[in-house]
Amino acid sequence: MRKKIAAANWKMNLTLAQGEQLINDILQAGIKLQEGQEVVVATPFPYLLKAKALLKNYPGFYVAAQNCYSEKSGAYTGEVSAEMLQSIGVDYVILGHSERREYFQESNAMLAKKIDVALAYGIKPIFCCGEPLEIRKAETQNAYVAKQLEESLYHLTAEQLKQVVIAYEPIWAIGTGLTASAQQAQDMHAYIRAQIAEKYGREAALGLSILYGGSAKPGNAGELFACPDVDGGLIGGASLVAADFTAIISKL
Ligand code: PEP
Repeated sequence: MRKKIAAANWKMNLTLAQGEQLINDILQAGIKLQEGQEVVVATPFPYLLKAKALLKNYPGFYVAAQNCYSEKSGAYTGEVSAEMLQSIGVDYVILGHSERREYFQESNAMLAKKIDVALAYGIKPIFCCGEPLEIRKAETQNAYVAKQLEESLYHLTAEQLKQVVIAYEPIWAIGTGLTASAQQAQDMHAYIRAQIAEKYGREAALGLSILYGGSAKPGNAGELFACPDVDGGLIGGASLVAADFTAIISKL
C-alpha cells in the first residue's frame, strides 16, 4: 500500500525559535499516525539539524530540505549538496517547486540532475509539477505535466522511482487561496498515475504517492485527501500554524 503523506513546506519563513515552537506544538498535539502515514517537515537549511533532533524519536515524522544543488561537490559558493543533507540525516528533499522554477530558472533538465544526485545519497525527492494559469485556461495541463514528468523523471529506473514522491501543485493555486477542486485534483492525479503506469507498469504506478499542493487547508483537506489518487498534501501557508497543520494531518 502506498504512503499517505502530509508535508509542510515552510519556505523562507520563521526564525529558529519560531520553528522549534511550531514543531513542539505539532508534537504536543499527540497525533497518532496510522500504519503507512508520514509527516514531513521541510525547513530552511539552517534549521534542518534542529528539526531532525526534535523529530527523530517520533516514528513517521521526517525532515526535508527545500532544495539541493545538482552537482556532487565543489566550487559552488552558497549551494548545498545532497551529500551534506545526507550527512545530517535529512530524509527528503523538495525539488522542482514552482517558486524555484520561476525565480531561480530551474529547468526540467536541471531537476533531472538534482533528482539523480539526491537519490545517489539516499535522499527521497518530492518532485513538484504543475501548470500555470494560462495552460489550465487553454486546457493543455495534461500535456504540460506529462512533459515535466518525462524530462525530469523518465530516465530513472523502476527501482529508483520507488524512492520518489510526486507533488502536483497547480501554480494558480499556490498561495493564492484558489484551490483546485477535488475533481480537478483527482483528474490530474489519475492522469499522472496513468502516465507512470504506461512508462513503468501498473505496480510501480500503484505504489507511487502523489500529493496535492495549492492552498490546502483544514477546511478542504478532507475532501481532497478522500480522492482515490490523492495521497496527501504538500502544504505551504497552512503548515505554519500548528493547529491548521495538525488538523490537515488528521485528514490523511
Ligand atoms: C506550496 O508552496 O508548496 C504550497 C502548496 O503553498 P500553499 O499551501 O500556501 O498554497
